[in-house]
Amino acid sequence: MKAQLEEIRTRALGELSDEADEAQIEAVRVRVLGRSGELTEIMRRMREVPPAEKPLVGRLVNEIKNEVEARIAQLVEHRRREALSRSLAEARLDVTLPGLRMPRGWSHPLTQTRERMLEIFEAMGFEVVETQDLEDDFHNFGALNFPPDHPAREMQDTFFLPGGMLLRTHTSNGQIRVMERRSPPLAIVCPGNCYRRDELSVRASPMFSQIEGFMVDRAGVISMAHLKGVIAEFLRAFFGPDTGVRFRASFFPFTEPSAEVDISCLLCKGAGCRVCKQSGWTEILGSGMIHPNVLRAVGYDPMQYAGFAFGMGIERTSLLKLGVDDMRLFFENDLRFLAQFRAGEAAS
Ligand SMILES: [Zn+2]
Repeated sequence: MKAQLEEIRTRALGELSDEADEAQIEAVRVRVLGRSGELTEIMRRMREVPPAEKPLVGRLVNEIKNEVEARIAQLVEHRRREALSRSLAEARLDVTLPGLRMPRGWSHPLTQTRERMLEIFEAMGFEVVETQDLEDDFHNFGALNFPPDHPAREMQDTFFLPGGMLLRTHTSNGQIRVMERRSPPLAIVCPGNCYRRDELSVRASPMFSQIEGFMVDRAGVISMAHLKGVIAEFLRAFFGPDTGVRFRASFFPFTEPSAEVDISCLLCKGAGCRVCKQSGWTEILGSGMIHPNVLRAVGYDPMQYAGFAFGMGIERTSLLKLGVDDMRLFFENDLRFLAQFRAGEAAS
């Protein structure tokens, strides 16, 4: 039995060489140490051993068991270290390699235009006030002196909602909302979205955005000259100091007198081209002195107070400023288009 044990030891340790793989190690462990393994089998046959040899055989079995277990533990540890150093070698980090550039977003071109416009007005002392998109007839039309039969009030132009509400068709409701709550002097710009029943096309969209501006003070203190000064200052700050500005008499229900404002064509600088239909001018905004009926509607006495107002489309202004010829591009959000206007991002 001693000879048999020595044989088990020699064979097991021989198979547990440095090159033994996981399966080989496991096979030896099961064969030698397992529940029906070789050493267990010997122990079961202990009664065949003469009493005098029993302690010796028992010690030898334990010795072999410990030896084989230790060798297996050593091999397992060795393999674990190898695997670790292999994976460290594979994942070696070169800290001198350039890093991955994380993509950064930037503002939409319409947002850039809007922010630049508001910045100029704020520098002139205007306060930015946002008002609501969901309006009633009074604040969108009635108080702005739209007669009851005005075409803008018809279904084909305005999104009417149940309960007599509507989606505002312009940001001029901002004038009414602010003047109702506050007293002159006021210098306010109201940016926001507007809605009309238009198909999305090169020049129009059912949702668009405007900036409404107005200034109200004591009658006699404020005049059409202030309107012209503010508008010309704004347009030259936005489009460039050499921009030509011209006022043309016009008509709006909420202003009297009213003026449409043109700037010199940005493409031909006033010489005349296809885009400006050879006129050298491009229409940019509507303006005028606030109609006495509008002042009355918000409880101001037109004998005591006067003011001017103006409104312009952010999309239209962006088209001109950025040289874009199709309004739909602003709403499709194709990154190839938007990436041309990464003004907010530092050059790299
Ligand atoms: Zn032109």
